[in-house]
Formats: sequence, structure tokens, C-alpha cells
Amino acid sequence: MTSQDIAPTQDIELSAETQTALERAEASHRHEALFSERAHNIKQSAVRDVFDISIRPGLVSLAGGSPSLTKLPLDLVAETASRVITEHGMEALHYGGGKGTLELRTLICEIMAEEGILGASPEDVVVTTGSQSAQDIAAKVFCNPGDVVLVEDPTYVGALNTFEAYQVQVEPIRMDVDGLDPTELEARIAALEAEGKTIKILYTIPSFNNPSGITMAAERRQRVVDICRGHNILVLEDNPYGMLRFDGHPLTPLRADNPDDVIYCGSFSKIFSPGVRLGWALVPKHLYRRFYLAAEAVVLCPSTLNQMLVTEFFRVFDWRGYLAESRAVYAERCAAMLDALAAEFPAEATWTTPDGGFFVWITLPEGIDTYPLLYQAIDAGVVFIPGAAFTPSDVPSNKLRLAFSGVAPEQIREGVRRLAPVIRAAVEA
Ligand code: PMP
Repeated sequence: MTSQDIAPTQDIELSAETQTALERAEASHRHEALFSERAHNIKQSAVRDVFDISIRPGLVSLAGGSPSLTKLPLDLVAETASRVITEHGMEALHYGGGKGTLELRTLICEIMAEEGILGASPEDVVVTTGSQSAQDIAAKVFCNPGDVVLVEDPTYVGALNTFEAYQVQVEPIRMDVDGLDPTELEARIAALEAEGKTIKILYTIPSFNNPSGITMAAERRQRVVDICRGHNILVLEDNPYGMLRFDGHPLTPLRADNPDDVIYCGSFSKIFSPGVRLGWALVPKHLYRRFYLAAEAVVLCPSTLNQMLVTEFFRVFDWRGYLAESRAVYAERCAAMLDALAAEFPAEATWTTPDGGFFVWITLPEGIDTYPLLYQAIDAGVVFIPGAAFTPSDVPSNKLRLAFSGVAPEQIREGVRRLAPVIRAAVEA
């Protein structure tokens, strides 16, 4: 098709705007044929859809898992940013190394030690643009189209989008209250191998899974890694919420005792700020070179300025004290949500009781699809994320995710009050 084909046949004077629109339509038609197969697999995340709606004034958003930044000392952040520029301006505004600065990688090792990963070396850390990009690099380095990536059911929608963009077959594995079910994991691996599939990665969020809030029990952790090792499957452990436990005993990350079989992804998004877009991967030594070369091929280097800001800020700031304060904030918000659910929701609904993280996962009776309920909820002045977003199949789901992290307790109570009649009507229909 050419612009002649879609232009009016009579000689009419077209406005400049119409002319531009016609030309764009013609270019769009031509370029459609250029898209890679990969690009056709890239979807708009359901969370982004709802995010756009949820910033409307007056709505209570229980949708996005935003960290609470209210206790961050902005004046100290500003002072640190200013000092970084006055003291290290030329360096801070320049390119840096592809692995990230040694200073930040050293700090990251201190943070991981706090979580139970002892003795990690900065030489094994790659600084990334958030944990999201660590997942992307892992998929890029290990996955061919048609390879299988195992994930928890449900799992983080952003990871699903990443894996699907690499045209992998994403296979959800059932969880129960203690997280990923190892028996189910073994059975599924056996079935996939019998079909001749190549399984490359198990992607897991073992602590305070997004969206379910479920944590993998201590006694399951090593078993899951052992099963994967036995089938030569890499474990990709995504742990952005691990330090935000407000109840129960800390659990050691899968990576701690398994340095050769687990790639560990961490993030500054929930413990400091998502806006600095900094996270990391702790990579087994034998995989490190390929991993960081792939990272370099995408970003050259992570933002030097932001790395220096974070390093300096964490050096002068009592981040351990801040984390303790953050845990108390999330504990209060979670309790507000659980109390409101108990008071407002019908008996037919059940939900998880997380020990940390940002989310509560609600289950309604079988047969109810929570996606259409979202529109009724928006009319009632509240937003959530329907459960279908968190599985690769997008099949109708009777689950939904509520985030308590970014909203003050009174707003949480109001949001649940607004949502309850929608849920009640669905249950009674
Ligand atoms: N992993 C999980 C489980 C998440 O919930 C999120 C963000 N919501 C991310 C990764 C992305 O984090 P980052 O900002 O570090 O890219």
C-alpha cells in the first residue's frame, strides 16, 4: 500500500494534520511487516493498564505494588546528590564499567550479607537497571525460542512479559501455603522432559511472592534447588522483598548455600527508591562473563550518577534503621488490610496472610472471573489487579491481588470498604 492508495482520489486540499496522519498510516502499514516474532510476543502489562487508571483522582489504588517512600529523608538524599556532583562531578557524569562501580558492588555484598548470603564477592555482582533487567539478561543469555522456563503459579507479571518476549514456553507450577510444591515441580519436569522439552530456568520469588505474598518454607528451599540441579536447570531467585519481613523468622535465600546453581536478583527499588532504577544480579562465577557482557550489550553501563548517589547515601544513612522503620510501616498497612477484609468481605472469599512484602492474594469461589469485576470496582472508586495477569495463559481467574504497600491505612480501609459490595454481589450472583 502506498499513500496514494489511501489518499482521497479527488483533488481535495488536505489539512497538514490529515496529510501527516495519512503518511503515518502508510508507514505503519509498511513497517508492520518488519516486526520480529519477538515483538509480537511483547504485551502491554495488565498492571500498566490498571496503573494508568489508578492515578485518576479520587480512586483508591490497591493495584500497584509501590513502595512507601514517606519515611525517606529527602533532604539527606538532596544533600548527598549535590555532594556527589560537587565532589565527583566529572566521574559521576561519565560512562562507567559494565559491571557497575566497585563501591556499589561492595555495598551490595554488605546488603546481601544482612540477608544471609555471606561471603559474596563484588567480582560476582553485576549492577543492573533494576531486578527487571537482571531477568531480561538471564532470559537473553540462556533461552532459545521454545525452551521452557518454570515459574510459580502465580508469579510476577513483569517476569512473564520478559520471558514471553524471548518466545519461551512459560510453565506455571502450583504453590500451596508453603510455596512451590517440590512434588509438583518434579512431576512437571519429568512430563516436560518426556515431551522432549529443554528446561532452562526455574524463576522463583521465594520470599513474599508477588502477587500471592506466599513464602517458600525453609525445609523446601534446598529440595527445590536439588531438584533443579539434578535436571540441569538454573534457579533464578528474585528477592526484592526479602528484607521486608515483618513477621516470623528470617529465611536464608536459596543462593546462600548454592553459589554455583542460583542466579540471585536483588533490587534497590523496595529498600530505597524504584526511581533510581538500580538492582543487581549475583551470578555464579562460571556464568559471570557471559552475563555481564550481555548486560553491557544493552546498557553499556548502569547510570554512574545514580550508582554514586546510592553508594554515598547508604554510607551516610542508617539504612538498617530505615529498613526496620519500613517493616513497621508495611506491617501496619498489612494489618489494616487484613482487618478490613475480615470485617467487610463475605465468608466465601479467602486470602493469604503474608509475613512480609507488599501483597495479599484473594481467592473467590470457583467460576467467578475477577477481570470484569475490575470495571465495577473502578466505578466504586477502587482498583486491584485481576488474577489472570499473573499466569502465562491469561485464562479467567477467580483470584485478585491487593497491594497494601503504597497506601496509608485509612485509605486501605476505605478501598476495601468500596470493593466489598462488588465482591459480595459477585459471590451472590
Ligand atoms: N521482581 C518482582 C517480584 C517485583 O515485584 C518487581 C517490581 N514490582 C520487580 C522484580 C522489578 O523490580 P525493579 O524495580 O528492581 O526492576
